[in-house]
Amino acid sequence: MSEHLDTRTLGELVLDRAPWPEADPRLAHVEGCAVCGKELAALRRVARAVRTATAADLPIAPPERVWHAIVHRLADPRA
Ligand SMILES: [Zn+2]
Repeated sequence: MSEHLDTRTLGELVLDRAPWPEADPRLAHVEGCAVCGKELAALRRVARAVRTATAADLPIAPPERVWHAIVHRLADPRA
């Protein structure tokens, strides 16, 4: 595999939406490609920041239903 992975595919890897078998050539590409590795690391930082964010991190609190939907979605990305 020589083409870089797109952001959506890397995002799925970060969110564990599409568990990839170890033999998947995309994993080998990410591990050996500086470009994809850098983007994957950035996406992981964003995901970690979102997962650990609290209402206190926001300049204003979102409506309760919005915050509930975000928490629900992060708890179960397949939802
Ligand atoms: Zn790449």
